[in-house]
Amino acid sequence: MDSNGQAEKSAKPLGKAFSKIDIDGHNLPPSPAPSSPRDGKRYALATELVYTEGTDQYNASSTPIYQTATFKQTSGGGGGEYDYTRSGNPTRTHLERHLAKIMCAERALVVSSGMAALDVITRILRPGDEVVTGDDLYGGTNRLLKYLSTNGNIIVHHVDTTDSSAVQNVLSQRTAMVLLETPTNPLIKIVDIPTISKATHHANPSALVAVDNTMLSPLLQNPLDLGADLVYESGTKYLSGHHDLMAGVIAVKEQKIGEKMYFSINASGCGLAPFDSWLLMRGIKTLKVRMEQQQSNAQQIAEFLESHGFRVRYPGLVSHPQYDLHHSMARGPAQCYHSKRAIIVESAKLWAISVSFGCVNSLISMPCRMSHASIDAKTRQERAMPEDIIRLCVGIEDVDDLVEDLSRAVSAVNLRPDGFSAANHSQENKLDTQSNDIF
Ligand code: PLP
Repeated sequence: MDSNGQAEKSAKPLGKAFSKIDIDGHNLPPSPAPSSPRDGKRYALATELVYTEGTDQYNASSTPIYQTATFKQTSGGGGGEYDYTRSGNPTRTHLERHLAKIMCAERALVVSSGMAALDVITRILRPGDEVVTGDDLYGGTNRLLKYLSTNGNIIVHHVDTTDSSAVQNVLSQRTAMVLLETPTNPLIKIVDIPTISKATHHANPSALVAVDNTMLSPLLQNPLDLGADLVYESGTKYLSGHHDLMAGVIAVKEQKIGEKMYFSINASGCGLAPFDSWLLMRGIKTLKVRMEQQQSNAQQIAEFLESHGFRVRYPGLVSHPQYDLHHSMARGPAQCYHSKRAIIVESAKLWAISVSFGCVNSLISMPCRMSHASIDAKTRQERAMPEDIIRLCVGIEDVDDLVEDLSRAVSAVNLRPDGFSAANHSQENKLDTQSNDIF
């Protein structure tokens, strides 16, 4: 950047590994170029989500898909900006720079799934390292941590991370990583990221606080601004929004952590493919409009369910026990919550029975039988996960249609000979609604 804050006109290409990424977009590869404003001005998030700058030779409005495994080099010694797509690809780079910008990160990296992101992150752990994490985690996260504790001699402490003092009690100099999810999945409990980050860095300044931000997305929460060192997301969910790709995103506060992550991605080959990078880039542009519609629908449905005697856990409802804490960290409640009885799941027509969340279509599921089935029944019981809890993930459909469909499903339950009645058994009907999805 020159003294007037303007970008240098003749940007020098970086080394192929992009050891130093300049997210303001001043020293970029020639194409497809930065996705950040060149004068360094930051716009509102809604603008940043859709705004990208490019120097594609044909001025393509949409970043081209560089569907190639290799790049021809200018000499026998290499010399090209890119050489092999496992190591780097312009479409992927464009997406990574765009994400770094919207996630307020020094560097972002994209990989083949949310679990691949966690795999990359946990590869920095060494045998004997301690990890502190929650007792209400996404099933796949739990499975990977269990694998690491069984096979990699990593000591994993599962505690109630919604109780900051419970976390503080297990922190020590041996703590290498604190892994948080908020809201928790599936019980929609809120974790105090700033308090836990401070306590972690006090116990061990080199420990990393990693936050799974999948449930909220960068539209609603920036964990890096709340004290975390690293944030990851399943791009399969809100970021892409259409359930047409798998992706994982890692965003870091410091370049040196990003370089370690990049090393693992290049070494193992889990970087996101060019076409999926392009699809994810397209999804991100509509994140705001999708999330806002989903939150608005989720709020109305949560209120409808609560008024019909269901216990709904949703951070958009003042009845959520951690309403204030959630809104001190996040810009919205998101769209997920919970209830009981499989009959509701099977009676709903518009609500597709599906694992996952964050899609434009509304989804309904039973986490203990589906997304969290990899957590064994005994552990689920120890962690007080109701076996028949239902998760609702609200889409962008017409809210009246969604409510009508749920009302019909609830009536079907009321007509059952066992006499289940939503109105009369409010303690029985527990719907934990957390973000735009109802879990
Ligand atoms: N984190 C959370 C909170 C999730 O719900 C999921 C998947 O459902 C993941 C991580 C893993 O993401 P992926 O399915 O893209 O591997």
